[in-house]
Amino acid sequence: MSKPIVRFAPSPTGRIHIGNARQALMNALFARREKGVFVLRFDDTDLERSRREYADSIEVDLAWLGIPPDVVVRQSERIEFYDAAAERLRDVGRLYPCYETAEELEFRRKRQLARGQPPIYDRAALKLTQEDREKLEAEGRRPHWRFRLDHRVVGWTDMVRGESQVDCSSLSDPVLVREDGTYLYTLPSIVDDVELKISHVIRGEDHVTNTAVQIQIFEALGAHIPLFGHINLLTTASGEGLSKRLGHLSLTSLREAGLEPQAVASLAVLVGTAESVRPVADLDELARLIDFNHISRAPAKFDEHELEQLNARLVHEMPYEAVRSRLAALDADGGEAFWLAIRGNLTKVVDAAEWWVIVHGPIVPIITERAFIDDARKLLPPAPWDAGTWKTWTDAVKAATGVKGKALFMPLRQALTGLDHGPELGALLPLIGPERAKARLSGEAA
Ligand code: GLU
Repeated sequence: MSKPIVRFAPSPTGRIHIGNARQALMNALFARREKGVFVLRFDDTDLERSRREYADSIEVDLAWLGIPPDVVVRQSERIEFYDAAAERLRDVGRLYPCYETAEELEFRRKRQLARGQPPIYDRAALKLTQEDREKLEAEGRRPHWRFRLDHRVVGWTDMVRGESQVDCSSLSDPVLVREDGTYLYTLPSIVDDVELKISHVIRGEDHVTNTAVQIQIFEALGAHIPLFGHINLLTTASGEGLSKRLGHLSLTSLREAGLEPQAVASLAVLVGTAESVRPVADLDELARLIDFNHISRAPAKFDEHELEQLNARLVHEMPYEAVRSRLAALDADGGEAFWLAIRGNLTKVVDAAEWWVIVHGPIVPIITERAFIDDARKLLPPAPWDAGTWKTWTDAVKAATGVKGKALFMPLRQALTGLDHGPELGALLPLIGPERAKARLSGEAA
């Protein structure tokens, strides 16, 4: 295979969500694995709804995921290419002017439905004479332009779905150009796929019907047709579609919530495939796991709880060097021993800050067994403390008081940390240190 050129083509009308990230990752990681090119194309021909700030945030999100694009293009800067293609389609008689208003179309649609007919555009505009058109224009009407579909079955070999076909005789001729001369999604997408020599169009399953239409337009333009792969969509855990407009699970919000990009990427790529969903610590390995032949046909459910669990599993394995600067930024860099003591109790790296306070204070100790805790305090071993101190101490307390098991450990944990759960005390005790431990066992906030 020659080097693939792929693209992720969001419209910058909102922040991208995890479902969009799935499509972006499938493209970017495929390109990475095959040493190809990953293009980020902003579908921003809708000037009303597209915003530069959304485009910028999408770039930040992709960089955070570790998949910055090799090339960025904006459709709003490429209109001349679309104009040329539209001209070509007019020349070959495939793009025709229509003058119906939205109300007229709606009325016809309702009438068709009432008669039990499919609501397909009836091509009335094809029957207009030059005179009719001039008359309509003289009334101030401006045309929108439709592509005249061939009413036939269009087939392709889908990278994901295998042999695929769509019967275009049941489709309306798509509008490519609006009344005001601006373009809808379809034509610019094809023109850019041609101009940028996109070899594989990998996108959501919601585009299957578009693909049939687009193949006809590629053909009408005499252009090379890329390969297509349609990936199942992600839904919420309760099965609703994700919506950019509703701000569903935006990557920005996941990032701000302190989730690891690798956790997000692992879930976004592996869910709904033959691979088990698990944390994969590097993108190259994740790229190797992508297999377009084994992506499920059913929509895949995205569960935020599952994401947290993946995140926790990644964090539990993270070496100190990988998090050192982040701990410093949280004011919680307690050194390697601190990190190794607490990482198994974290869901997110940011949670380290809470454990730093537990170690470093001040905390309010919980003392339930005053006399027992006094006895235990008196038995604290002399400094310096190390990983064996906890055992030495608790053996001595057990021997002196006869208390053992949970009745021994829980009051000590509560007095030393103010909590009834947490990391191994063997690891925490030397971090808390003799001075603070004594104060806490005396009931002082320290
Ligand atoms: N802007 C389109 C979308 O977000 C791109 C679809 C495509 O990949 O062709 O759905």
